[in-house]
Amino acid sequence: MSGTVHVIGAGLAGLACAVALSAAGRDVVVYEAAGHAGGRCRSFRDSTLDRVIDNGNHLVMRGNTALLRYLDTIGARGHLAGGEAVFPFLDLGDGSRWTVRPSAGPLPWWTMVPERRVPGTRPTDYLGGLRLARAGKRETVADCLADRPQIFSRLWEPLAVAALNTSAEEGAARLLWPVLSRTFLRGASYCRPFVARDGLSETFVAPALAKLAGQGSQIRFGSRLKAIGRAGDRVHTLGFAQQDVALGDDDSVVLAVPNTAAHQLLEDLVPAFPHRAIVNAHFRLESPIALPGNSPFLGVVGGTAQWLFVRHDVVSVTVSAADSLAAHPNDEIARILWRDVAAALGRDRTTIPPVRIINEHRATIAQTPAVAGRRPPPETALANLFLAGDWTDTGIPATIEGAVQSGHTAAKMLLSMRKPV
Ligand SMILES: Cc1cc2nc3c(=O)[nH]c(=O)nc-3n(C[C@H](O)[C@H](O)[C@H](O)COP(=O)(O)OP(=O)(O)OC[C@H]3O[C@@H](n4cnc5c(N)ncnc54)[C@H](O)[C@@H]3O)c2cc1C
Repeated sequence: MSGTVHVIGAGLAGLACAVALSAAGRDVVVYEAAGHAGGRCRSFRDSTLDRVIDNGNHLVMRGNTALLRYLDTIGARGHLAGGEAVFPFLDLGDGSRWTVRPSAGPLPWWTMVPERRVPGTRPTDYLGGLRLARAGKRETVADCLADRPQIFSRLWEPLAVAALNTSAEEGAARLLWPVLSRTFLRGASYCRPFVARDGLSETFVAPALAKLAGQGSQIRFGSRLKAIGRAGDRVHTLGFAQQDVALGDDDSVVLAVPNTAAHQLLEDLVPAFPHRAIVNAHFRLESPIALPGNSPFLGVVGGTAQWLFVRHDVVSVTVSAADSLAAHPNDEIARILWRDVAAALGRDRTTIPPVRIINEHRATIAQTPAVAGRRPPPETALANLFLAGDWTDTGIPATIEGAVQSGHTAAKMLLSMRKPV
């Protein structure tokens, strides 16, 4: 089947889809509402800090196989930094520090070694994680795992909130299981954590744009899709502010926009989901610093900050499921989060360094059991329209891996269609 594929949205779902399709020889045009690509995963030069910062810290794992395939295709795997399967933590409540160090291979012998596990936990506590595999549709992470408070508050809850961007009391247990089974349960090499070395755009976005340009695909920035014209069971026009694009008989569309935008365009086909916020605070220190063990990140419990990341002289704090924090004014958020950073790094809590707060109010969909059960599949009632995006039914949480996987799935479906749709 030939024809042009019109990919709407140049976030990671749209980019992964476009790269896969153009690599397979398809004509691809990408339309992006903003003046830049990357969507919720981007970096930019911030004038307050005079540094390149990410909209939010993004951690990915070696077990994110769709992402690694994407990075290999665009030649960017080398832009990742990190990679040792060590997870340092600090409890701000009592000052204790520990490092979770999974062992090689699927047999979790590391849980038998006190120095490699969370203090105050027993090896049998870790077996509790297997309970997620049997989670019912309506069960939350807390329903399955909160019965052992020490490991819950010091391991399961931080992992669940980071992966689901939803509190453990609300988060769908069934969505956390694939995270554990694709990473920690496969052993150290699959849970090696990585961050973007120089910036999210430099790692995940710019190499994809270069690849698309090299393959002759077009990308049109500043092109917001406003309407989808239908005739019978097909899309026949894409309405942009500047122009209408009429689709040929063999043309198809991949709608890779966030859930809210997809719902506005297709009210009858796409439900509107509730979202959760992520707050990031980027503090520029007076000189470069390193976290203990030279890790690129530190997990924090017992405060408001959840994860600290360091890039040169910028320490960045992430708070997921952050709707109540996000409601505060920025200077108050800076004060609250600097207090935790100062405690973690042994700094003066009264002198707040230059800071940039980034409040992503709709960082991801709320990954509750109710929402998880309603995520739509890629195919739609319209024969030449496919959905992609982290919020679609990938079976995994709304993350970079989910976004890329959804883009690959939509591309695969299009490529497997034998005759014009
Ligand atoms: C602060 C923050 C921290 C995160 N941390 C992590 C992490 O540590 N690990 C992880 O794996 N994931 C993380 N995520 C999630 C990850 O960023 C997202 O899952 C992923 O980027 C979503 O990609 P997407 O392509 O599905 O959507 P988006 O990135 O939202 O892309 C959609 C694109 O569509 C465009 N668009 C919207 N409407 C239209 C329209 N009408 N016409 C044309 N274009 C349109 C948008 O401008 C955007 O570029 C984080 C997200 C945030 C916000």
